[in-house]
Order: sequence, then C-alpha cells, then structure tokens
Amino acid sequence: MKYAQFFYRRVSRLQFGYCANGATACAGGYGAINLSFGFFRISRVERLSLLLHEARHLEPGGWNHEICPRPFLDSNRQPIVSRPENIRLAGLPACDSSPLSAYGIQIIFYRNLAENCENCTAELKSESAENALRFLIRIINKSAQGILQSDY
Ligand SMILES: [Zn+2]
Repeated sequence: MKYAQFFYRRVSRLQFGYCANGATACAGGYGAINLSFGFFRISRVERLSLLLHEARHLEPGGWNHEICPRPFLDSNRQPIVSRPENIRLAGLPACDSSPLSAYGIQIIFYRNLAENCENCTAELKSESAENALRFLIRIINKSAQGILQSDY
C-alpha cells in the first residue's frame, strides 16, 4: 500500500485543534487530525511522518500509546524529551510496545526514506535516518525494538 492510500483510508480532514501534553498534532476522532501551531514549525518530512502517526491512531482500536518509563533517560543519562515541544516524556503516554504502532510506522517510514528514496536529497536522507533513531528509543519493548532494528 502506498503512503497516500494509507493516509486517505483513515483521515477525512485536518483541522486546528487542542492536543494534550503540548503535542504538535493528535487524532481528533471521526477521521480528523488536530494540528497545533507547532505542527508548522517542524520540517516537511516530520510533518509527513506525524500525519502517518496520527492516521494510525484513527484505526479501530487506536493503537494507543504506552506510558514511558520513569525515569526515561537516554544513553547519556539525560531525560528524553519530545521535539520540538521539549517536554520530558517520563510517565507520559508517549511510548509504544509494538513495531507496528504509531511510532513504529514512523520509524519504518523514516527508514524507507533514508534507505530507499530515489529522489531525496542527502540531507533529507540523513534527517530521516536520525529521526528513525530518535523514535526508536520510544519503543520500550526490547523485542519490538529489536524487530525494528533488524529491519535495516
Ligand atoms: Zn500518538
């Protein structure tokens, strides 16, 4: 399935709207995605990936997030924060446990661009590879994380 098909089968409209925890976008229900002003401050590829993420939430069952561990630290023992919101994620529903979750499909999308895009700039491929790694940390189930890592 192409990404556009994936999106249009789930999403009927985009609208300005409130999102909890300062999120840049969120599923609004009934096929709607709410966008906050922050949505327009992220890069084009981040917007695309976020729309796919929110489209995943609009599926039956919603692919709801898991609560991130407390503390939730990176390899330098620093608190993991969201971008661009810069909100500490420990204890927030901003992690996943499945490789096919909302964050999982973002990781797969970014990897596809980084490794297979034939008309992307080197800069875009590099940004995509970085973003894939940045989101991989949000997959808190080690088995699911391993499945995504082996998908290189
Ligand atoms: Zn989400």
